[in-house]
Order: sequence, then C-alpha cells, then structure tokens
Amino acid sequence: MKRRLVVGNWKMHGTARDLAEARELTRLPANANRQVVICPPATLLHRMSRIFEGTGLSTGGQDCHSGESGAHTGDISAAMLLDAGASFAIVGHSERRSDHGETSANVQSKAQAACKAGLAAIVCVGETEEERDRNIELEVVGRQLLESVPENANGDNLAVAYEPVWAIGTGRTPSIDDIEAVHEFARKQLVERFGASVGNSIRLLYGGSVKPNNAEAISNSRDVDGCLVGGASLNATSFAAIAKAFG
Ligand code: PEP
Repeated sequence: MKRRLVVGNWKMHGTARDLAEARELTRLPANANRQVVICPPATLLHRMSRIFEGTGLSTGGQDCHSGESGAHTGDISAAMLLDAGASFAIVGHSERRSDHGETSANVQSKAQAACKAGLAAIVCVGETEEERDRNIELEVVGRQLLESVPENANGDNLAVAYEPVWAIGTGRTPSIDDIEAVHEFARKQLVERFGASVGNSIRLLYGGSVKPNNAEAISNSRDVDGCLVGGASLNATSFAAIAKAFG
C-alpha cells in the first residue's frame, strides 16, 4: 500500500513565534501509513526541521533553483534546502508560475535539481478557471505534467499535486467526480510514460481549499494519495485534523 502524503504549504507566512504551531503538530500520533510534511518559508526551515527531529514529521522547501550554486541573488538551491533539514521541495506551484513567470520547462529543471540533491519533488499542475470553463482542464494538466515531470521520476523522488488554480485560497473545490476524473487522467498518463510499476507508485495529491470538513471525502476519492494544503496548514489543530483524515 502506498503511504499517504499530507503536505502543508505555509507560503509567505510565519516568523519565529509561529513555530509554536510546529511544536503543537509534533503531538500528532505517528502513523506508518501517512507522511506529514510542512513547507515553511526558507527562514524557518532549519528551525522547524530541528523541532521535527525524531517525530516522523518532515519539512520541505516551497521552491528551489535549477542550478547547484551560482550568481542567483535571492534564490535557494536544492542542496541548501537539504542542508537546512528538508526532505521535499514543492516546484511549479501556480503562484510561482504566475508571480515569477515559471514555465513547465523551468519546473522540470527544478524538479530534476531537487531529485539530484536527494529531495523528493512535489510537482504542481492545475488549470485556471477560464480553462476549466472552456472544458480544457485535462488538456492543460496533461501538457503541464508531460513538460514538468522529469524523465527520472519515480515513486520515491516525486509526487504530483493537482491544484486547480481557481480552488487555491478561495474556499471552492471541484466536485469529487471532477477530482477523480483529473487524477484518473494523470495516473493514466504517468503509467503510459513510466510503465505500470513506476507510474502507479507516484503519489497524486489534491490541493485547493482542503479543510478539516472536506478532507475525509477527498481522502476517500479514487486515485487521491494525499493532499497539499495552504491556509489550513497554518494552524496545527486544523492541519492535524486533515492529516488524520488521510490515515
Ligand atoms: C496551496 O497553496 O497549495 C493551497 C492549496 O492553498 P489553500 O489550501 O489555501 O487553497
């Protein structure tokens, strides 16, 4: 059985005092069937990783540069994330794609860099509201997947997060049928590309307004192996409730 993966993305939220939420989260009982990760701002990564030591909880970065080092002011490499205690790196979040003009080719290079450094990449894909209204979500997600997921992907070094852009931070979610339709499509594409063994082992997460009150239904959906949570991950009580719904 695949281990479920529950990831919190703190985005640009949190200073030292918010580490109290991380400390509170360490009370979450360990569960071999589920992996729980918080991706805090880079400034908190090392401190949070220390708090999580020996608890079974993990940390991740919210982005990484595709290069190993160099003259890239303000950027952070995958090796630096690892050095700060991270095990994961989110790449291609829609806010990176829109705020920083990141293309799927950029995302693929970042995912490759993350894997090479020894992190697991969480590659985000998802359609905009306009694309959903035009019923081209499968085409959009299919293209993003093809261009963003690197050739050396496998179930250990990569997960995919389906995050419809219109559901992020809005309190709106697709219907369970719609989530399942996209996940089924993504699974088929991964299996066709990587073969059944690898394609089926890559975890597919749903992201976009996951809350304690909808986590159970999303968790029980076909081909959903976990979730990526923004707003509700900032509070240990709500994030723990979501994690429990996933295993
Ligand atoms: C996200 O930031 O990836 C996200 C899913 O945010 P929220 O849960 O707040 O919609």
